[in-house]
Amino acid sequence: VVIPLMGLGLAVYFYSAPDNFSEEMLRGKRVIVTGASSGIGEQMAYHLARMGAHVLLMARTEAKLQKVVERCLELGAASARFVSGSMENTAFAEEVVKEAENTWGGLDMLILNHIGYSYFNYFDGDVEHVRKLLETNFLSYVAMTVTALPMLKESEGSIVVVSSVAGKAGGPFIAPYSATKFALEGFFSSLRHEFIIDNVNVSITLCILGFIDTDSAMRVVSHAIRAAPSPKEECALEIIRSGALRQRELHYPPSIVTGMLLLPELHGLRAKGTRLLNKDLGQLMQ
Ligand code: NDP
Repeated sequence: VVIPLMGLGLAVYFYSAPDNFSEEMLRGKRVIVTGASSGIGEQMAYHLARMGAHVLLMARTEAKLQKVVERCLELGAASARFVSGSMENTAFAEEVVKEAENTWGGLDMLILNHIGYSYFNYFDGDVEHVRKLLETNFLSYVAMTVTALPMLKESEGSIVVVSSVAGKAGGPFIAPYSATKFALEGFFSSLRHEFIIDNVNVSITLCILGFIDTDSAMRVVSHAIRAAPSPKEECALEIIRSGALRQRELHYPPSIVTGMLLLPELHGLRAKGTRLLNKDLGQLMQ
C-alpha cells in the first residue's frame, strides 16, 4: 500500500512556532517521562537532561531504561532515575508518581507518552484487547494525573499528553488505538475547562503527532507510506517546548492537516477492495 501523501498537493499550516521559549525554563524542573526507553520518550529524556532537569523515566524494559539514565547523567541532568513496570496496571501508574513525590517532594511536569501494542487490521471483535489497550493508553494517563495533581497544583506545573491524528479523526484498521487516543482528547480537554473554571493553574498540552521516525514506526510504516517521516529528536523538543510554554495543543509536523487528509484516502482503499494483510502495520496511523 502506497499512500500518495505528496500527491495530495496540499500543505496547510496552523501551527506557529513559539518564539519565547528558553531552555533555562526547564533547568532544575522535576519531570516524569513515560515510555522513555525508546522513541520519542527517550529523545525527550535527552533534551530534558541537556537542559538540566531532574528526570524520572518509566517503561517496562529495565536494561534500556538503565542506559537512557546513564546517558541523561552524561548530558547534564540534575538527576536521573527510572521505574520499570507495565502501565496495564493503574496501581503501577500511581506508584510511579509516588516515586517522584518520595524523591523530589514535588513535580513540575508530567509527560504522558507511552502506548501498548495494537494490531493494524479490521477490528477483530476482541473486546479484551480494547479493554487492555484502554488501561495502558488511557486509564494509566488518568491515574497518573489524579495522583500527580496535588503536586502540580502546588508547583503550578504542566501535564503534557502525547496523542495522534488518530485521536482527531477515525480511520480504518486502528479502531482500538484510535479509541484510546480519542479518549485522551475528550478527558483532557474537559479537564482543562474545569481547571479554568476553578482557577487551577495547571496547564494541559495535547500533542497531535503525524508520522515520526521512531524505530517502531519505521519498522512498520516505511514500506507503506511515501511521505518522509519527521525526526524524533525535533518532535521531542517541540513537545517539551509546547509544554513549557503551556500551549493548549501542539501539531507536529506543522503539515499535520495533510496527515489528517490521509484518512479518507485509507477509506478509499477499502472501497477498492484493497486488503492489508500485514498486522505489523499497526502503527501506520499513529
Ligand atoms: P515507541 O514504540 O518507540 O515507544 C513506546 C514506549 O512505551 C517505549 O518506551 C515502551 O517501552 C513503552 N511501553 C510499551 N508498552 C508499555 C507498557 N505496557 N507499559 C509501560 N510502557 C510501555 O513509540 P513512539 O516513540 O513511536 O510513540 C510515542 C508516542 O507518540 C505514543 O503516544 C504514540 O501514540 C505517539 N505517536 C507516535 C507516532 C509515530 O509515528 N512514531 C505518530 C503519532 C503519535 P518498553 O517496551 O520498554 O515498555
